[in-house]
Amino acid sequence: MSKIIDGKELAKKVRLELKDEVEKLKKDENIHPKLAVIMVGSDPASQIYVRNKSKACDEIGIEFEEFLLDENTTQKELLDLIDKLNENEKVNGILLQSPIPKNLDINEAFRRISPEKDVDGFNPVNVGKLTLGQKGFVSCTPFGVIKMLEEYNIDIEGKNAVVLGRSNIVGKPMSQCLLNKNATVTICHSKTKNINDITKNADIIVAAIGKKEFVKGDMVKEGAVVIDVGINRGEDGKLKGDVDFEEVSKKASYITPVPGGVGPMTIAMLMTNVVKAAKDQNK
Ligand code: NAP
Repeated sequence: MSKIIDGKELAKKVRLELKDEVEKLKKDENIHPKLAVIMVGSDPASQIYVRNKSKACDEIGIEFEEFLLDENTTQKELLDLIDKLNENEKVNGILLQSPIPKNLDINEAFRRISPEKDVDGFNPVNVGKLTLGQKGFVSCTPFGVIKMLEEYNIDIEGKNAVVLGRSNIVGKPMSQCLLNKNATVTICHSKTKNINDITKNADIIVAAIGKKEFVKGDMVKEGAVVIDVGINRGEDGKLKGDVDFEEVSKKASYITPVPGGVGPMTIAMLMTNVVKAAKDQNK
């Protein structure tokens, strides 16, 4: 049976450490970290994500301001708001909640967020820094996965790591993070042939494809570490990952559950990035 990587517990620990740090920053250095979140439209899932981020900020003592723009917002209005937040010295982190309406260019918006305030790590400057192995903001989900592996003392160096999915927000930065930690990385996507043959050789599998219980027991090597990023709704309404937990947990040495695995870590790492932004901007 696998050991469970408890993302909920670890995220709690990270948040408590941040709370202490924020208290000290306020008291000793008059630094008051602040996150601004922009949401365009009223996507129900996004509303939940934004609420969770706001709750985490409250708990840690990070100031939080939400900017709700309606669906008819123009690209210029969105960029003007980003410009204003870039210039506002009280705002340390800016997050544009995706998705945004299709008529808007999200990539241009990500480019417009100042790299110093880009706590989601989606600005090409930060993506480039990650690729070059330089310090910058790392996208929160991959950052959280690496933190989990490190906290559980799981070796990454020299391991065969297989990342399922190549999205800009998870798969690609995840692969880069693992490569930066000296893993030998293979990326699989929807055009990859014989995925089973590839995953069966993996010491570490990170599944981020958005297909419910895609990774089955026979795709996993005995003793592999399996990280499940996927969030899918089952027919019963319950959350399911990209990994068939029941089958895979019989073979993996470590596994993350869904819920309670990568999800809570993503928010904890966002909070970490906001505090880092506040400190860097006040140097
Ligand atoms: P995405 O943008 O839809 O990307 C999915 C990726 O999976 C694509 O690269 C796609 O390949 C690949 N793929 C799809 N079907 C496949 C298949 N049958 N075999 C192999 N590869 C396949 O999704 P995402 O934004 O990266 O998110 C992935 C999952 O993670 C979703 O369930 C999402 O909800 C979840 N997520 C969780 C968190 C968290 O905090 N826990 C954060 C972000 C996302 P192509 O490129 O060829 O299309």
